[in-house]
Amino acid sequence: MILKTYSITKEAAQVHIKSVGETNQQPVVDSSSTHHKTLRPRVLIVGAGLGGVAMANAIASSCDVCLVEKRADTGVEGSAIGLPANSVHALKLLGYEFEIKNIARQISHMAWAKSNGDLLSLQELTRIHPLGAQFMAVARRDLHRMLLERAIVQINFRTTINELLLPAASDAPVTVRFSSSVNYGGIESALHDFDLVIGADGMYSTVRDLVHAAVKATGDKAKSAGQPTVAPKPVFRNVRAWRTLVHGKPNWPEHSIYFFSLTSMLMLCPINSDTSGDRYYIYAHEVIPKPDRLTDNESEARFMKIFSEYGGVIPEVITEVKTDELSTLFIESISDIYWGSPTDRVVLLGDAAHGIPPFLQNGAAQAFEDVYTLALLLDKAVSRASSAQLTETCILDEIKKACINYVDARHGRVDFVVRESNPPYPVNESELDAMFKDAKEKGSWSVSQFYKLMNNPTFSFPSDLLS
Ligand SMILES: Cc1cc2nc3c(=O)[nH]c(=O)nc-3n(C[C@H](O)[C@H](O)[C@H](O)COP(=O)(O)OP(=O)(O)OC[C@H]3O[C@@H](n4cnc5c(N)ncnc54)[C@H](O)[C@@H]3O)c2cc1C
Repeated sequence: MILKTYSITKEAAQVHIKSVGETNQQPVVDSSSTHHKTLRPRVLIVGAGLGGVAMANAIASSCDVCLVEKRADTGVEGSAIGLPANSVHALKLLGYEFEIKNIARQISHMAWAKSNGDLLSLQELTRIHPLGAQFMAVARRDLHRMLLERAIVQINFRTTINELLLPAASDAPVTVRFSSSVNYGGIESALHDFDLVIGADGMYSTVRDLVHAAVKATGDKAKSAGQPTVAPKPVFRNVRAWRTLVHGKPNWPEHSIYFFSLTSMLMLCPINSDTSGDRYYIYAHEVIPKPDRLTDNESEARFMKIFSEYGGVIPEVITEVKTDELSTLFIESISDIYWGSPTDRVVLLGDAAHGIPPFLQNGAAQAFEDVYTLALLLDKAVSRASSAQLTETCILDEIKKACINYVDARHGRVDFVVRESNPPYPVNESELDAMFKDAKEKGSWSVSQFYKLMNNPTFSFPSDLLS
């Protein structure tokens, strides 16, 4: 027997009531109110980051979710995160409109400046989204906590997956071997069967490697058609980045502002305050030909050296940076978009499927769009199967169709966002001058790209796939 038949669980009903009461709006994925008899697919989600937790929350009322995370806890590094209006819109559709307004700060303007502090452009962002969503910024920890506070699915920490066996037939489960014993459905074992596996395990996804290898091993040419021949890998984007949070001063800008030189840039963005006052997110980077091996001290010294030579408010900002809170990383993106094997009911979301360059702040945004789309399609599949009293094989077929529709609905959009997220790096002084001239006369590259992303005609959530 693949799918268990349950009546709706007490917990699911409670979640329904809780989320309606707390957010004053209907959760998107709300099977509890419509199912008289609910078939609950067994779903594994690997990775309890932003995408994994949002996904678990979105389907917890209609599926039996197992959520595993390789780290020991949910402590998140990463200072802050920009939530462009499409991200805020996706979070609203997922039922977080009330919470996000409480924890994030609206960014109503965005500016570009030269590294000496000369202002090039200051543009309004409030009318950027066709449905009125606003651009916001938030401490990453607060965003993750917001998602975790909604969670009813327990996270299995210090757990990863070691093996993934694709279904041997259309009515068979996906079998997964974990790194340690997992209690799922009351059974303690390192081996469990699932009707659907979702890889939300980030840029270095294990699910991606395992499913790619498993599909290849089948030798099935149809399944491999159009897929990358080797499992996609993170690719270095010639940038060393630094991130931190600092407390602000009253004279600091209320908008987000990017300062540029030929080989480096720094973004200063106000975020939500804490009890000690206003906070600002600093993202800075320098262009380097290949990753090097600076020690933490050397990297901090490099940050100080580069940005203490900037003008405007930056010298004052730099004095507020605590070097032990400055995190350094090399920016990477995924070589190819890869969604897993939807016909085998193994799909990827977020960075696991498409690690997007961060220059348009759309990594998490695309993860939330993935989550909404997949959750909606899955919920409809379960709903349709329950109301039609389908056989188990047919229900698995509905899940498979939901996975295929998910990939169809998301691929064009993600491909567009990946392409649009690559900034026109100037490679010499005359290209830099041209970029500055453009920013002064026509506005900044980022703002025009944000407009494109919000109004991308290839993108709509898949209501047309649901009939
Ligand atoms: C410098 C920088 C700035 C960024 N700024 C923005 C921004 O402003 N706005 C924006 O939208 N995006 C931004 N992003 C991108 C954003 O952080 C990611 O796209 C987003 O976190 C992706 O979410 P995710 O859930 O897919 O992956 P993650 O958040 O990476 O979560 C993956 C989770 O899976 C776990 N995991 C990994 N492997 C395994 C395994 N084998 N087994 C179990 N668990 C596993 C990890 O521990 C982690 O908890 C930025 C990225 C960078 C690098």
